[in-house]
Amino acid sequence: MNNKPKLFIVVPCYNEEEVLPLTAPMFREELRKLEESGKIDPESRVLFVNDGSKDRTWEMIREMSAADPHFQGLCLSRNRGHQNALLCGLMEAREKCDITISIDCDGQDDIGAMDQMVDAYLDGAEIVYGVRSSRETDTFFKRFTAQSFYKLLNRMGADTVYNHADYRLVSARVLKEFANFREVNIFLRGMFPLVGFKSTSVYYERNERLAGESHYPLKRMLALAFDGITSLSVKPIRIITGLGVVISLAAFLLILYALIAWITGRAVAGWASTLIAVAFLGGIQLISLGVIGEYVGKIFLETKQRPRYIVSERTDEMK
Ligand code: UDP
Ligand code: MG
Repeated sequence: MNNKPKLFIVVPCYNEEEVLPLTAPMFREELRKLEESGKIDPESRVLFVNDGSKDRTWEMIREMSAADPHFQGLCLSRNRGHQNALLCGLMEAREKCDITISIDCDGQDDIGAMDQMVDAYLDGAEIVYGVRSSRETDTFFKRFTAQSFYKLLNRMGADTVYNHADYRLVSARVLKEFANFREVNIFLRGMFPLVGFKSTSVYYERNERLAGESHYPLKRMLALAFDGITSLSVKPIRIITGLGVVISLAAFLLILYALIAWITGRAVAGWASTLIAVAFLGGIQLISLGVIGEYVGKIFLETKQRPRYIVSERTDEMK
């Protein structure tokens, strides 16, 4: 009987023709090492998910798969973003394997850490989070924005593992339960902790991108943070409620003060204070409406229950 776990390395790729030829052999080599050390099943695979790339990424995946069945691929019908591409890969892989490891295809995450992840799985963990132990190779700006991102998320009630992105091992058992999370607004790193099961972390150094450019400039990072918060927590709405209570109290005191001033005949034409109060309240109200609107928008999107990804092409074994 063979009870070595079958591993699928799931790699979302968007316009990565420059970096794929560098990292694909590295993933393959890692599989070989893990197989040789007897930790995983020889039928383990690298599964690329082409997220609607506009360059030769999918052709490259197809060529690699034809030359070596250890490489498999799925092609999405259009670009759906990193989270959806990854979700697609995980959902398709779970039918065919015992464990998945998700990783970016740019070589930034230490591929060698997979060894420790598999060890942790063999020791009983069902989810193993890859955590960056330092960010020395990132620019100061990237480091600062990324760390503020994690802090903001946690303050706003979206519990995530600090400095963990989407490099993680998840067992098929967890993925089976995860398949019941049907929301379209997904933020995987915040959702896996909700599934529960035994989990642990593995620490690694983060490298520079081997080639090509990041798809996460500040604007997309902010969008991701906002999506993460609004998909995982209603804390912003609570903050608004709290703010409303505080401001109402202050307004009550102000009214008392105004009444006393009027009764004692000291009321003067104070347009400055009126203007400030009106402007302040107007601003707060608009922001609050915006935040609530964001949640209403999310409800709108969720009620449609549109598919989260559509696969248009598959390599042989994935058919
Ligand atoms: N990616 C994707 N779809 C997108 C954008 C990115 O599948 O719309 C993939 C990309 O190919 C890479 C991973 O997501 O494997 C992370 O992207 P990137 O390295 O650009 O982000 P960063 O590491 O700079 O945060
Ligand atoms: Mg990257």
